[in-house]
Amino acid sequence: MDFSTSPDDVAAATAFDRFCQERLAPRAKATDEGLSIPKQNWADLHEMGFFKMHYPEEVGGFEVSWEVRAMAQESLAKACAATFLSTGASIGLFGAPLFVYGSKEQKERWLTPLLNNEIIGCFGLTEPDAGTDVQAIRTSAKKTDKGWILNGEKALITNAPCADVGVIMAYTDKAAGVGGVTMFVVDLKTPGVSRSKPYKKMGLRGSETGGLVFEDVELGNDAVVGELGQGFIQAMQTLELGRIGMCHFGIGIAEAAYDASRKYATQRKAFGKPIARLQAVHFKIADMKIEIDGARLMARQCAWRKHQGEHLGSIASVAKIYATEMAVRVTDAAVQVHGGWGYTDDSVVERLYRDARLGPIGEGTSEIQRELIARDLLDG
Ligand SMILES: Cc1cc2nc3c(=O)[nH]c(=O)nc-3n(C[C@H](O)[C@H](O)[C@H](O)COP(=O)(O)OP(=O)(O)OC[C@H]3O[C@@H](n4cnc5c(N)ncnc54)[C@H](O)[C@@H]3O)c2cc1C
Repeated sequence: MDFSTSPDDVAAATAFDRFCQERLAPRAKATDEGLSIPKQNWADLHEMGFFKMHYPEEVGGFEVSWEVRAMAQESLAKACAATFLSTGASIGLFGAPLFVYGSKEQKERWLTPLLNNEIIGCFGLTEPDAGTDVQAIRTSAKKTDKGWILNGEKALITNAPCADVGVIMAYTDKAAGVGGVTMFVVDLKTPGVSRSKPYKKMGLRGSETGGLVFEDVELGNDAVVGELGQGFIQAMQTLELGRIGMCHFGIGIAEAAYDASRKYATQRKAFGKPIARLQAVHFKIADMKIEIDGARLMARQCAWRKHQGEHLGSIASVAKIYATEMAVRVTDAAVQVHGGWGYTDDSVVERLYRDARLGPIGEGTSEIQRELIARDLLDG
């Protein structure tokens, strides 16, 4: 594995990090309180090339190295984790399967405007009664002469309240089990589609999460993404990429908590000296650094292997668990370093602590990831 970073990559990543700190970080508190991602955040990220850097030129993107993408994602999560989540669901979870499995027409219709910041996408797998147990989804699409009729309900979907379009997983052949799930690209303005209000959440409040209902929604044959019956595999492949994204999410949030803690510990005094001089505090800060560096190495390993074209399997689960649980531990320690002020919204670490808590839940809970790792280890 070669993790050396070229001077050009370092310069690009540093410029992007500066942009995130100057433009997005100052808006993060208002984003949390305003319960939606400011349009300006989307526009600024578009201007900085963040959306296009994830796709090749053939679909209107531009190539950057995998290292720049990794560093840019960390910087975005560090500046505003809610913006990371919403843009990630749109550009990554929605855009990636269209890019990999979509037809030329689907890419022209949906991917081009997505990369030009003209539309927002979402990824609809979870349902009110089916999260980890994906096979239990009930949404179904029935074949007609003209195309398909979609019925069902999705829940806990990032961007559902504000998205223009979604990739939606539905059974087209229930008897075939997961081999009967198909992915559809659905224009959310189609008659029969309705959506819930955004849920009130513990953290990542700027990122709108909600439900979608499909009642006799008529879709053309051109709404099928990839092959019939391949939707489960396509969704799992998409989530494998998403796990690397969740590593960057955890690392970025933890970095923000670590920076705030170092700064606070050198300024706050107790017993006549900065609290940073107290062993109980400076060990916490040292532990933060150890954990962040460990998580970053795991995430880089996954990103590098993915870049080599490898199937990641359980190493993505290992990294996802470590990075997201690390972020919970680090933000918890950061609140402790800030004492009572860390428990108020005067302190950034209060929001970071709430935001970090999604990590071990979203895109495959820690429990199911541990299951996958154990199965890989024990069953070979
Ligand atoms: C903010 C937010 C954004 C989200 N965005 C999206 C999105 O864009 N698209 C989307 O499709 N979904 C999204 N989700 C849904 C998310 O992926 C699910 O919440 C997650 O997969 C868990 O499913 P569940 O909530 O139904 O929990 P359940 O599956 O009901 O799990 C409940 C508990 O049981 C445990 N459990 C369940 N099965 C097992 C098992 N076999 N072994 C061990 N433990 C088990 C779980 O780990 C968990 O602790 C989002 C969720 C949140 C909170």
